[in-house]
Amino acid sequence: MTETHAVTCPLCEATCGLEVTTDGDQVVRIRGDMNDVFSKGFICPKGSTLKQLHEDPDRLRAPLVKRDGKFVEVGWDEAFAEIEARLQPIIDEHGRESLGMYLGNPNAHTIAGALFVRPVIMAMGSRNLFSASTVDQMPKHVTAGLMWGDPGAFPLPDLDRTDHLLILGGNPYVSNGSLVTAPDFPGRLDAIVERGKVVVVDPRTSKTAQKATEHHTIVPGTDIYLLLAMINECFAAGLAEVGRLEPHVAGLDWVSEAVASFTPEAVEGRCGIDAATIRRMTQEFAAAPSAAAYGRMGAHTVEFGTLTSWATDVLNAITGNLDRAGGIMFAGPPWERFDPQRTPGGRGYQTGRWHSRAKGLPEANGEFPSVTLADEIETPGPGQLRAMFLIAGNPVRSYPNSERLDAAFASLDFMVAVDIYVTESSQHADVILPGRSALERSQFDFAFYSNAIRRVVNYTPPTFETDQPDETEVLARLANVVGGFGADADPALVFDSMVEFTIDREVTNESSPIFGRNKDEIRGAVAHWPPAERIIDLRLQTGDFGAGFGADPDGLSLQKLIDNPHGLDFGPLIEKFPAAIKTASGQVELAPEPIVADFERLRASFATDPAASDLVLVGRRHLRSNNSWMHNVKVLVKGKDRCTLQVHPDDAARLGLADGARASVSSRVGTVEAPVEVTADVRPGVVSLPHGWGHDAPGARLSVAAEHAGVNSNALTDDAVYDHLSGNAVLNAIPVEVAPV
Ligand code: SF4
Repeated sequence: MTETHAVTCPLCEATCGLEVTTDGDQVVRIRGDMNDVFSKGFICPKGSTLKQLHEDPDRLRAPLVKRDGKFVEVGWDEAFAEIEARLQPIIDEHGRESLGMYLGNPNAHTIAGALFVRPVIMAMGSRNLFSASTVDQMPKHVTAGLMWGDPGAFPLPDLDRTDHLLILGGNPYVSNGSLVTAPDFPGRLDAIVERGKVVVVDPRTSKTAQKATEHHTIVPGTDIYLLLAMINECFAAGLAEVGRLEPHVAGLDWVSEAVASFTPEAVEGRCGIDAATIRRMTQEFAAAPSAAAYGRMGAHTVEFGTLTSWATDVLNAITGNLDRAGGIMFAGPPWERFDPQRTPGGRGYQTGRWHSRAKGLPEANGEFPSVTLADEIETPGPGQLRAMFLIAGNPVRSYPNSERLDAAFASLDFMVAVDIYVTESSQHADVILPGRSALERSQFDFAFYSNAIRRVVNYTPPTFETDQPDETEVLARLANVVGGFGADADPALVFDSMVEFTIDREVTNESSPIFGRNKDEIRGAVAHWPPAERIIDLRLQTGDFGAGFGADPDGLSLQKLIDNPHGLDFGPLIEKFPAAIKTASGQVELAPEPIVADFERLRASFATDPAASDLVLVGRRHLRSNNSWMHNVKVLVKGKDRCTLQVHPDDAARLGLADGARASVSSRVGTVEAPVEVTADVRPGVVSLPHGWGHDAPGARLSVAAEHAGVNSNALTDDAVYDHLSGNAVLNAIPVEVAPV
């Protein structure tokens, strides 16, 4: 008998609703859910492959332990006993600072990652925390922290109401959105083109650039100069008008002086966009009824990534587009409590509260930079990393200078990976603990509804049952072992303390609808749910739209979401400033001290001649790929090779490169060979390789991916250069030499 399930796609930030039809334990069909309140039927090619991911014979169903250099399948108790036996001697001899953790991007897509990674970090008792954030998004956290005091409050382009969207280094037609959750991004972009303008700044003619109203092929790494010139033009032409937030914005004078020398004429030679065009772009942006500037990977994963992110939001602020409909807005997940009368202000935001051991690099958001993980493993002395926990990630393919990291991982005394595959990274583990498939676990997007362009929420129960423990339980047991409570300790220890913490916080908070209520009563009211769902229900019921455990019987609760499987939509985003400003001054800071200091580094760089290299490497994204982890799905990798080195025809002729032939690409740290694709889609002087490929490592078990191995672009990215303010890696504008093979 067939059944239909409404499932929120967990594969990217877009959170599309899927209609999954099953017959027994088989998936019969997956298509877009026309009734989903947010995605309304949109689906991309990846979304329909949940079946293939679920059935993939390479996906791990049981823990693996390495014995005599080979993985053997073991039971769960044996796996945790092995971790306990191997870990404790390392802690006893070298202390907890010898432990480190890497968190991969899939953690943002699971309930387990959102709720139960934190207890493992706490149990680890070490500051050696690394994640994918310092590969792709830390600049945005740092500017959000410095400018409005909340590093988690990403500025979101209000796509459905804007008249003018400026996209720098982003390709949302293909990525379906990054640091902004908006299913059917392509449809929303088309609608903006229809009613206004989409301007794309990108060295490549990406799919988004093709669909845009206009496209400017900028020199990689120079978006900051374009933005400074646009800000300069705003002041020079009298276009700077902060509007409603004027009394709540500080630092305008400093900005005006700082950008004075960055005129359109001064930067045109560096960024490759002529002064007249920069002026016109600025005037149109400022004159639009509403406008939003949005920068992503190409603009931020560069040497001045944080300054670029800052300048993007300065442009939004000084044109009156910060926190207004059609401009840049801030999310309001329906479980949030927002008080518009709140007095602005807070503790503010700081980076560099502690520094890494080997190179003294500052933390940001409690994490050390990706560029220094190998240093921490290789550098001898007290605190040298000897054991790693790798939670759902593949840094041997996603971190800069990844060949070095590969060798460093091989030198560790012990590694535990939580992963559904034996990847290029998890092959180094001594124990691998697999999570469930996406169709065997429940789904609730804490992270992405907190970045969404509407106040939406949905919950998906598991489609299939399984005996395999849920990742929430895997992480709770891991926290117990790492914390010294033993391999046999009950995961309920972790679950109950988290639930208790949440209840305590609510019944003692005057703004909560359950303030002062009896804890036993609330605990009893959620006791019938699985542990993670208890926390979800508590959060939903105590938010602005919440049922408050009986206070508003029609209010939001987990049961209400289960009764509404296509999600609930509480409307468009609302203005949140000044109430939501959390800087120490209570104002939006356009000139926070770290930005002012780094601006001098930028000035010095601008004053020197650009690098002598005549070719620079940039990345790119493909609709059928998702970082390193969708390449084991046949339907997504079949067809013509997508991992090619794109080269402009002029460069190809100059270098003697033929379409389809192979070329060697060398940077300071490595050399790879890739098939050449001669195309005018890249700017002259720019070559492009997608990231996340290179599946020919001998120890990995990704049989389909190995047949379409591609080239590891991070064998070329350099861990000696990074964005100083955020510690973010530099993945774009890498100087390279290219030659025919
Ligand atoms: S766009 Fe993202 S969320 Fe939507 S179907 Fe594709 S992978 Fe899934």
